Amino acid sequence: MLTNEYIKRVYQQVEKRDGDQPEFLQAVREVFSSLEPVVERHPEYEANGVLERLVEPERAVKFRVAWTDDQGHVQVNRGYRIQFNSAIGPYKGGLRFHPTVTESVIKFLGFEQILKNSLTGLPMGGAKGGSDFDPKGRSDAEVMRFCQAFMTELQRHIGQFTDVPAGDINVGSREIGYLFGQYKRMRDEYSGVLTGKDLTFGGSLARTEATGYGLCYYTQEALQTLRKDSFQGKTVVFSGSGNVAIFATEKAQQLGAKVVTASDSNGYVYDPKGIDLDVVKDIKLGHRGRIREYADRVDSAEYHEGCKGVWTVPCDIALPCATQNEIDEESAKTLVANGCTVVCEGANMPSTPEAIQVYQDNKVLYGPAKAANAGGVAVSGLEMSQNSLRLQWTFDEVDQRLKDIMTGIFQKSYQASKEYGHEGDLMLGANVAGFTKVADAMVAQGIL
Ligand code: GLU
Repeated sequence: MLTNEYIKRVYQQVEKRDGDQPEFLQAVREVFSSLEPVVERHPEYEANGVLERLVEPERAVKFRVAWTDDQGHVQVNRGYRIQFNSAIGPYKGGLRFHPTVTESVIKFLGFEQILKNSLTGLPMGGAKGGSDFDPKGRSDAEVMRFCQAFMTELQRHIGQFTDVPAGDINVGSREIGYLFGQYKRMRDEYSGVLTGKDLTFGGSLARTEATGYGLCYYTQEALQTLRKDSFQGKTVVFSGSGNVAIFATEKAQQLGAKVVTASDSNGYVYDPKGIDLDVVKDIKLGHRGRIREYADRVDSAEYHEGCKGVWTVPCDIALPCATQNEIDEESAKTLVANGCTVVCEGANMPSTPEAIQVYQDNKVLYGPAKAANAGGVAVSGLEMSQNSLRLQWTFDEVDQRLKDIMTGIFQKSYQASKEYGHEGDLMLGANVAGFTKVADAMVAQGIL
């Protein structure tokens, strides 16, 4: 419920203007629901129109991407780059290639990115981009031609000091390589304009692992502070089998947990003996296969069609790492009924508002995405630092910084939740802590 007059008024404006963008409205509403005590304590935010400005991207680019497939047919996709907010640093955020990509999806991701990047403590503004291109079933050569066509337009909008894209769903080191190559060719410039680069041309060690490892560092810190507990001996359910899920599984296992599931957009595998991560890595990173193959290769595992079923597997901790709105009210209730007491989000906005309500009603330790999955963009920020310094830190050095950033994000959120009278509400804490830094910068820089 939004009760504060200022917040209500701005939300109604957004509804009026962007009523056809459900994911964006959902993200704005969630953040606004936390900000009431903040705008009451800081009248300068209203006086400076901070919320009105925050919900309107500084710049939104939409462009045609035309490329030729292996059969010689011309294909046309839609490209986006939404530069949402640059109050605390150059625009920063990933690119997503997926058929579900729309302006609404990119706007929700860009909006979340503003606060996520702020929470890392690094100087990065918020942006997001992508395309409705579906790389599934496409050859390497097709993906390369698509990336080159995409960058041919994108390059005029980005730069190492202005906007630094990275990966997101379906944009990994292969795609970043092709995008980087095209940028270099067109601009005749060798810079850190993208992050998530391969180690041979300016990438950072531990960037691949960062989101997944970071998710576990955050969860571990939350467990320790709020429950004097840890991953040790816990049963963990994951969705997803991309970079985030794979490296979060790796870290959770190192921290003593038993991970029993992995999934993709077709279905999930349940392995009561504990997921054999080498097999998942071989399937997903080795030959871009489907997760059902896991059950053919591991005797103790069963495969189930459909993604939602993964939330019926009993667990202590659930770490959604697939996509937005993957846990609805019913799934959240099932998780709780089966004993789950912790949900921390590796994907962006994987829980519907109704699911979050279920967590809150049942005292689930809930770590929201913008805090829990900030490890990826945090190490992207460290990649930018290394590129500027023209050097490369060791894996341990980056990993240690990542750990410090993730524990810092938890602590900042927890402190903010206490300061604003909602101790332990990590969603409110993350929204408030992320927002106040950006809002103060926006006030200080004047009306722009
Ligand atoms: N796509 C990731 C995210 O959602 C990483 C973005 C980046 O590294 O810039 O935060």
